[in-house]
Amino acid sequence: MDLEAAYAVLAERGAPAYRVEQVRHAVTRDLIVDWDEATTLPKDLRNALAAAAPVRELVLGDLQESADGTVKARFETADGFPLETVLMRHGDRHAVCLSSQSGCALACAFCATGAMGFGRSLTRGEILEQLLWAARTAQGRGARIRNVVMMGMGEPLQNLAEVLAFCGLANDPEGFGLGARSIAISTAGWVPGIDALAAQTLQLKLAISLHAPDDALRERLMPVNRRYPLADLMAALKRYRAATRRRVYVEYLLLDQVNDRTEQADRLADLLHEHLPGACHVNLIWYNPTAADLEASDPDRVRRFREVLDRRRIPQTLRRSKGSDIDAACGQLAVRGAREARAARRTAPEPA
Ligand code: SAH
Repeated sequence: MDLEAAYAVLAERGAPAYRVEQVRHAVTRDLIVDWDEATTLPKDLRNALAAAAPVRELVLGDLQESADGTVKARFETADGFPLETVLMRHGDRHAVCLSSQSGCALACAFCATGAMGFGRSLTRGEILEQLLWAARTAQGRGARIRNVVMMGMGEPLQNLAEVLAFCGLANDPEGFGLGARSIAISTAGWVPGIDALAAQTLQLKLAISLHAPDDALRERLMPVNRRYPLADLMAALKRYRAATRRRVYVEYLLLDQVNDRTEQADRLADLLHEHLPGACHVNLIWYNPTAADLEASDPDRVRRFREVLDRRRIPQTLRRSKGSDIDAACGQLAVRGAREARAARRTAPEPA
């Protein structure tokens, strides 16, 4: 849903100013799925909007619901790129995990999206449309979306302009009205994006996927570390902190015998005390199985790791992600066979 294209239609037609508000309300509050539902608008305007700014550009594919109430939706862009969106229930609060790209270029060893390769970046409208789908689905359960996390497919900081434009739309008090602090952007450590984010006035939450406390291991798990090693990354986070005074959320995936030794917990604490003193929170994450040859940490090892962080006074929480029974959990988003499907479409004759 390209809201700006809809506003352009209004401007072109010289529509009165109050139409802007009607359009915005129809899309972000009434959650229309088709312009014909926007009955405050005259019929010819609805037709013009439907032609230039369709409410639904993404094609909804499979929907899967997990035992814990998580719903995963699979979409395809109009030009055939797959993506996934996950709606999570935390009591009566719902959160949605959005994709910023179809696939991902960063190829982290533990992540299914990385294994799928990169398709293309999504537009602000394609990101907004995922939120609108989630809001409608939550509404069907009598709930509202409280939090948005950019933790679906893709590296949001490699698509920063569109992601920020989306955040502005989601945050607009006259529209969806989500607090900036309720929107989290998660990055694998794309340093120029961290600096660009630090320069923003919008008070977004920043999460950094760290996963290893030294370069040798981080490079093995996350190839992006070759381009932006820990020294560069930590320096960027320090600049971000200095510029925004905001807390940085550090994500640390616990991989059995790989990054879960107590010495590694100590290294992690050293790094954080040095670069983000009193300014971070560690989210420890259970590894969700993918095709990678890795395993979730043994609970005893997790306990010892956490004891070290506690002793070193690093605030931390351990979370188990939702929806793993339907491959909707962190790192499990990948559309199997999507590349084949796309290749097949490219070679198919164009419809007459
Ligand atoms: N590219 C961004 C956002 C997407 S990943 C980033 O890297 O932050 C969202 C989170 O899920 C990241 O912290 C990522 O490292 C984590 N993740 C990836 N694969 C996972 C897996 N198999 N199990 C649990 N978490 C995983």
